[in-house]
Amino acid sequence: MSIETHYKKIRAEVPEHVKIVPAAKTRTPDELRQLIDAGVTDIGENYVQETEDIQQALGDEAKALRWHLIGHLQTNKINKVLGLFDIIETIDSLKLARAVNQRTESVMPVLIEINSGREPQKTGVLPEEAETVIREIATLDKLSVQGLMTMGPRFGEPEEARPYYRTTKELSTHIASLQIPGIKMDVLSMGMSNAYRIAIEEGSTLIRPGTILFGKRACQMG
Ligand SMILES: *Cc1c(COP(=O)(O)O)cnc(C)c1O
Repeated sequence: MSIETHYKKIRAEVPEHVKIVPAAKTRTPDELRQLIDAGVTDIGENYVQETEDIQQALGDEAKALRWHLIGHLQTNKINKVLGLFDIIETIDSLKLARAVNQRTESVMPVLIEINSGREPQKTGVLPEEAETVIREIATLDKLSVQGLMTMGPRFGEPEEARPYYRTTKELSTHIASLQIPGIKMDVLSMGMSNAYRIAIEEGSTLIRPGTILFGKRACQMG
């Protein structure tokens, strides 16, 4: 099956309110064009250099897309990221939030990345610290928090991912109930190829499939 067919199949399968943001790391401009032809409006990228290259190759077609940063953001890359992306899904600390707030000229939509498995090797705000961190971020005038994002396990049994998604959804509901001025909890970005169906069952509004659209990556990065 072609990339276009894969996309259309998933689009038909998932509820209309769920946005599909293909995770395009290591993919070529041609592969992305197939998605654009199939109706994709949003693209997820992990790396600055790759995003620069692919946007350049796509030219005007790139300008019509909404670019999501879904990879870890290092402070020294902020200026570049601001010029390339429309939303940063990976605000994983108060420190990073402050740094982005300081450098951006226009208001930047962001998601707060939650380390829903409390895994030491993973980035993200711990669920128990999220309320405090988000209250602080609410005071930053150049960041517009739209919701939460979580990774969860990339591989393994889909069911194993469920508790990670459930924790993040519960957190999102809790934060929404606080009605913190300027903080929206409209977006819940969770679900990759292995378990997007389960993520949607648990309340995801944005899935980030890679492999099931494009096929296996030549090298497994990120
Ligand atoms: C690579 C990646 C994905 C897609 O993963 P697949 O297993 O290929 O579907 C989604 N989100 C992030 C943050 C990624 O880095």
